[in-house]
Amino acid sequence: GSTIGILGGGQLGRMMAAAATQLGYKCIGYAPEGDNVAGELCEDFFTNRWDDKAALAAFAARCDVVTWEFENVPVETARAIPAGRIFPDPRALETAQDRLNEKRFVEGLGGRPAAYAKVDSPSDLEAAADRLGAPGILKTRRDGYDGKGQWRIMSGRDAAGLKLPDVSTIYEGFVEFDAEFSVILVRGQDGEIRFWDSARNVHEDGILAASLLPAGDIVEPQVAEARRLAGEVADALGYVGVLTLEFFATREGPIFNEMAPRVHNSGHWTIEGAATSQFENHIRAVAGLPLGDTRTVAGVIEMRNIIGSEIAGAHAFLAEPDCHVHDYGKAEVREGRKMGHLTRLTRA
Ligand code: ATP
Ligand code: MG
Ligand code: MG
Repeated sequence: GSTIGILGGGQLGRMMAAAATQLGYKCIGYAPEGDNVAGELCEDFFTNRWDDKAALAAFAARCDVVTWEFENVPVETARAIPAGRIFPDPRALETAQDRLNEKRFVEGLGGRPAAYAKVDSPSDLEAAADRLGAPGILKTRRDGYDGKGQWRIMSGRDAAGLKLPDVSTIYEGFVEFDAEFSVILVRGQDGEIRFWDSARNVHEDGILAASLLPAGDIVEPQVAEARRLAGEVADALGYVGVLTLEFFATREGPIFNEMAPRVHNSGHWTIEGAATSQFENHIRAVAGLPLGDTRTVAGVIEMRNIIGSEIAGAHAFLAEPDCHVHDYGKAEVREGRKMGHLTRLTRA
């Protein structure tokens, strides 16, 4: 096929569309009203609600294959695309959109998440804080990102005083981690899996600030076990495309944090820093092309997010040798919003 449909209009879709264009595909985007920065790189963009059946049918009719860049595309929307013409399989969305489902699924494959409990009432929260202890983190089961929809609970008193959100939540024991890292893989239509090197991820205020390679002595010994789990997750979901799992590196080994059934912010370094980027390999996988080499091509790599108003001065970084700036072209600058990123390389 020669037209790729992308559900979601954010920067991940924009970078996917850039990779697809290089390979000679046309892209058509689909997302509700918003700052759909993927649209500029798409031949056409459907601005419609996720549940607009007629618009979805018209969109699907124009696409040879459809994928997504946004993990909260409603499962029914993804299922409205005929099976076999959407990759990954929508059950990956179903599994990952609910933190409770996701943790149970991963535990079923031998993964170890932080201790957790489902919380639907103040008494649930008190019981959870009693059983799992404080500190801990209360998270909405659905729709959270960049640390939104999370509350730190430092003590039983905090738990008693918290006004619970109006949605189902989950309480997690706080993991005293030594570092954070992610496993990013691509799985092809024939089941072949390739991994990129794992970066050490640094978060500030719940938002990814930087991804660093090499990941260092704390992370590196834990990558093999984390990859085993990520590979099992991908196989179990019959996954096609790029899949990400986030981990805490602890003295007891890798603790699973969450998964993202998509390309991932912590893989942006692969654009300049790997033989084939996560975006290109995602397109290759969903289009049924041979997968590209995932090897790292520089000795030291630093990816840094450009948040909020920092974007105004970002071109100044171009004065540095081998520093690459990506501006997502978002119309609205907001505090805490990912506006772009830069990647600094030191070639070996
Ligand atoms: P993303 O933007 O990655 O999707 P998110 O909003 O889904 O983020 P999480 O990944 O659950 O949020 O948490 C964000 C960050 O908060 C983590 O990367 C980690 O730094 C910290 N964090 C989350 N859960 C825990 C935990 N149980 N123990 C310790 N730190 C945690
Ligand atoms: Mg998340
Ligand atoms: Mg996360």
